[in-house]
Amino acid sequence: MRVLKGLASRNFSPFIGEITRKGRTFYSRKSSVLLTDDMGLSALGYRGCITSGSKGKFYHPDHIYNVENTDLLNEGDIVRLDNVGNIEVLWECNSHQNCLFLTERCNCRCVMCPQPPQNSDSSVFLNQAEEVLNLLKGKQISDCCLTGGEPTLVGDKFFVLLRRCVVEHPEAFITVLSNGKLFSEHSFTRKLSNIPRENCIFCISLHSEIDMLHDAIVGVHGSCSATQQGIYNLASFGFPVEIRIVISRYNYRYLVQFAEHMYNYFPFCAHFVFMGLELHGCAAVHSEEIDVDPLEYGPYLRDAVLLMIRRGMPVSVYNIPLCMCPSDIRHVASQSISSWKNIWMEECNRCMEKDNCCGFFSTSVSIHKNFIKPFTERIER
Ligand code: SF4
Ligand code: SF4
Repeated sequence: MRVLKGLASRNFSPFIGEITRKGRTFYSRKSSVLLTDDMGLSALGYRGCITSGSKGKFYHPDHIYNVENTDLLNEGDIVRLDNVGNIEVLWECNSHQNCLFLTERCNCRCVMCPQPPQNSDSSVFLNQAEEVLNLLKGKQISDCCLTGGEPTLVGDKFFVLLRRCVVEHPEAFITVLSNGKLFSEHSFTRKLSNIPRENCIFCISLHSEIDMLHDAIVGVHGSCSATQQGIYNLASFGFPVEIRIVISRYNYRYLVQFAEHMYNYFPFCAHFVFMGLELHGCAAVHSEEIDVDPLEYGPYLRDAVLLMIRRGMPVSVYNIPLCMCPSDIRHVASQSISSWKNIWMEECNRCMEKDNCCGFFSTSVSIHKNFIKPFTERIER
C-alpha cells in the first residue's frame, strides 16, 4: 500500500475519506479530504485536509501538512489519515490492483510469505474495509481483491464483505486470495450459497500436489489435502477457481508433475498461475533457502507451462521479467506487480519490451540482476 508522509496538525483520531482536489459543495464535504496547496477558508467543512504547504490556522483542525509527492494522489482516491502524519492510500482510482485487506492472521506459516502473519485484532481492518465500500457505493470500479493474511479467518464478516463487493459492484471483477483450507469444511463453503458467482473468482495457493512438500512450504501439516478439498468444494458450489503456485527452491524441480496433476485432478479450474517470489518478509529472511535463479528453474517452468498450453489449460506466469522467461512461454507472462511496488532497473530503460514486462518488486531484498538482458527489438508474443 502506498503511504505518503507529512506532519499532523494535532492529535486527532485516524479517519478515512475520499480525496478531492476540485472541491465539493459545502454539504457534501463531510466524507471528503481536501487536497490543497493552501489551507485557507476553502478547507471548511471537510473531514480532513492534506497540503504540501504549511500548517493551517483555525479553518481545519484535522490536517496533514508539509506532504511531499501529493501529485501521487488523485480525485476519488480513498485515504486514511492518522495523527503521526501518515496518509495510507487504501483505494487508488487509477489502479486495477486495489485490495481490501481483512486480517493479518493466517492459518499457514509459509516459508516465502511476503507479509508474515500477525495475531492482531482484525476489527480495525474490517471496519476499514467497510468504510471503503461505503465510499465506493454507487461508483463504477473495475476490480477489487479481498486479501490478508487469510481473509476467510474473519468468518461471517468475510461472507458479508464478499457479498457486498459482488452485489454492489456487478461491473467489477472480484478476486479472493486464499489458501482455501477453510473451504474444506462443507458447512463453511455453504455460506457462499447466497453470493452471486458471475463476477467473482477464488485464487487459491497450492505449491505442490505432494503433501509433504506443500506442507513443508506452508509450515502446517495437513494443509495440502485441506487446500485441495477446499478447491473441490468451491467448484462444487459453482465458483471459478484459479490455482497459484509460487516457484521456490523447494518445488521448482517438480513443476511438470504439478502441471500433470492439475490436468488430471483440477481440469475444471478457470486459470493456473506460476509465480516468481517476492523476497520480502519471511521470504527475505529465508532467501538463501528458497531463492532460485531463472536459469535453474527456467527449463522446468517452460515444460510445465507448455504441457498446460498443449492441453488447452489457461495458464499465466506472474512476477517473472520477460528476459528471464524461456522464449516459448513469454506470451503468457503478465504485468502482475502492483504499481506502487513496481520498479525497473537502469538497463530496462533501453529495453524494447519494457511496456510489456512486469519488472521487479521494489520490496524484494535482492534481484537477479545478472540475468537482465534488454531486448533490442520487439518480440513476437
Ligand atoms: S503466504 Fe498467504 S497463506 Fe502463506 S502465510 Fe502468508 S498469508 Fe498465509
Ligand atoms: S530488460 Fe528489464 S524491461 Fe526488459 S525484459 Fe528485462 S527486466 Fe523487463
